[in-house]
Amino acid sequence: MEKKDIKSFTFEQLQQEVAAMGEKAFRAGQLYQWMHQKLAGGFDEMTNLSQGFRQRLKEQYAYTHLEMVDRMISGIDQTEKYLFRLEDGNVIESVLMRYHHGNSVCISSQAGCRMGCRFCASTLGGLTRNLKPSEMLDQVYRIQQISGQRVSNLVVMGTGEPLDNYDNLIRFLRILTDEKGLNISQRNITVSTCGLVENIRRLAQEGLQITLALSLHASSQEKRRELMPIANKYGLSDVLEACRYYFAKTGRRITFEYSLVGGVNDTVEDAKALAELLGDINCHVNLIPVNPIKERDYVQSDKSAITAFKNKLEKYRINVTIRREMGRDINGACGQLRKSYMDAEERKQMV
Ligand code: SAH
Repeated sequence: MEKKDIKSFTFEQLQQEVAAMGEKAFRAGQLYQWMHQKLAGGFDEMTNLSQGFRQRLKEQYAYTHLEMVDRMISGIDQTEKYLFRLEDGNVIESVLMRYHHGNSVCISSQAGCRMGCRFCASTLGGLTRNLKPSEMLDQVYRIQQISGQRVSNLVVMGTGEPLDNYDNLIRFLRILTDEKGLNISQRNITVSTCGLVENIRRLAQEGLQITLALSLHASSQEKRRELMPIANKYGLSDVLEACRYYFAKTGRRITFEYSLVGGVNDTVEDAKALAELLGDINCHVNLIPVNPIKERDYVQSDKSAITAFKNKLEKYRINVTIRREMGRDINGACGQLRKSYMDAEERKQMV
């Protein structure tokens, strides 16, 4: 039988496990602190637990500890890209970005992705599997340890669709924001989704103060469908209705992500249609000049088109920023580090 994954338990769940082992209640607190605050690499480091208890923990539970296989540091802006190997050999990628307001980590929520967005590298090989809460947590923990930098912000914008791994995502968020753990502020967390309507509504009801980022990328249902197959399942008006509901429930302003693709969705007419679409929603628009991937022939918009798009939105009094490209020298598009690693491994096996 597969061992239970001890780092994926919330504090309440861990208390039950410890009680079931016949240990005193305060041991759960010690164990939780070792895992989620002191970021221990394994049971052996937990020196205030008895040898016997540690031994039984080892026998009964698996301890997630990601192995770093690559780390690249940008010479331009200190952005760091990490490649981690999971216990079953899968690899995932995470990023550390340094801003003046603090350090932000971008994590993956799945190994691969099944959403199929046309311009995205992470989805090319399909979905391999969901990440466990402990595997999402350990991306933050390992980066904090290896870089020596305190992490204060988190974006779930790496490989995967977080709302397609809903229960694990929620458990991850609860542990990461727990004051007995790293205690990262919920307000400093952003979860990005391609728009799974039911789960946006569920998320709105969790009582979390996190920011929802919605990948919009088009101002009409037809155009959105061309870029994002998921739009065949959820229509644009339903997605926006779910966003309004999220704001009504949480009071958190929505971020709309809009990847500008040259000649596809980047004209001033597109901008006007977008402004009219978002008219009454309390939101912020984040424009992302598309990162071209070699498997598709999408190109970035001209600088002048990007500026004109932004100006048009501002005319309509929409809050808008252009996403600053970070770590230009150490990556291509998001998900490409993992992909190039997997392609290289595959080539090795063919030899
Ligand atoms: N599954 C989530 C997280 C994906 S990554 C989602 O869809 O939101 C975060 C953002 O980067 C999304 O808005 C995604 O559409 C965008 N993105 C992915 N590949 C990109 C690329 N090559 N260029 C620009 N933006 C991209």
